[in-house]
Amino acid sequence: MKVPLLDLTAQYAAIREELDDAVAGVVRSQRFVLGPVVEACEEAVAAYVGARHGIGVSSGTDALLIALMAEGIGPGDEVVTTPFSFFATAGVISRVGATPVFVDVDPVTLNIDQARLAERITERTRAIIPVHLFGQMAEMAPIMEVARERGIAVIEDAAQAIGARHEGRRAGSVGDYGCFSFFPTKNLGGWGDGGLIVTSDDARADRLRALRVHGETARYHHRFVGGNFRLDALQAAVLTAKLRHLDRWTAARIANAALYTRLLGPAAERCGDRLRLPRVVTGHHVFNQYVIRVAERDRVQAELEAAGVGTAIYYPVPLHLQGCFADLGYRAGDLPESERAAGRVLALPVFPELAEAQIRHVATVIEAAVGS
Ligand SMILES: *Cc1c(COP(=O)(O)O)cnc(C)c1O
Repeated sequence: MKVPLLDLTAQYAAIREELDDAVAGVVRSQRFVLGPVVEACEEAVAAYVGARHGIGVSSGTDALLIALMAEGIGPGDEVVTTPFSFFATAGVISRVGATPVFVDVDPVTLNIDQARLAERITERTRAIIPVHLFGQMAEMAPIMEVARERGIAVIEDAAQAIGARHEGRRAGSVGDYGCFSFFPTKNLGGWGDGGLIVTSDDARADRLRALRVHGETARYHHRFVGGNFRLDALQAAVLTAKLRHLDRWTAARIANAALYTRLLGPAAERCGDRLRLPRVVTGHHVFNQYVIRVAERDRVQAELEAAGVGTAIYYPVPLHLQGCFADLGYRAGDLPESERAAGRVLALPVFPELAEAQIRHVATVIEAAVGS
């Protein structure tokens, strides 16, 4: 039996006419950059997330980047974040000339450990970027408390977490900025690159809208140095149409995750630390990824592959140990929870259209691979 890590063809087949019509509308209008189709997408996503403004941008990476630019963060500033995320989370900090400061993760959720946050904040700290890893929100209340006390901006990296909820708030709506990615593998995926940033602050929204068009505030008048960070109308058309189906897809992801957890529960119980399943700690987890932690991970991955099951490792190298950050001076052993996770994580197929028989096959292979 073949079980790919992700198969987008089934999703497309199910709503093909709707998506093709949406794209055809843009093609007929020949308005490809910003305009009403992008505005409709921005409004729909902002309303869905529960924020006042949505600003469509070229990628999730650029959403994070212009949030930092909008705060005027640059050389001499520090930005606190997690070492266990996709590279972009920290890459953007360096790109504006600021210094990433890594705080280790909570061993259960693998999100930034808010208990260790305060001790890494200095008088140079200008922002905190919590990541809602794999679709589960970071513990936002204590992060917001520290940030408000010290006058620090909070930029949520919600790239993996559209629709996730905790304490009545959706991912992206709690901090000063919420950054989303529409990379095709995300829960709401476009037909190429795309992203969006939400904020409920009018002044910040104005700055973001200017920054994505070269800092232009009136035609050919530039108050800021921005860039070309626009969302394509073709992407916006696809995303607006897909957003109507997102809750149904998310429910299917959650059901798939629950089935894995039920099937693998007894093995995890037997294996103790040698097999750990994801735990839902902060409310509504939207399972962009279902990530187990397993001893002898590479062997287990090879056995899954031999049985036709696609998996992936998010992420094999924690950010503080990446070559490009060597001059920050971190050493192996400095952030032990992230380093341990990097050696054990394994993402299983969890996309909405998986069949129950496929999930059972994956679970059976894992059970056999981990032994008793
Ligand atoms: C995907 C992702 C990004 C970057 O999004 P792109 O649209 O690929 O630029 C940033 N942070 C996290 C946590 C992501 O998963």
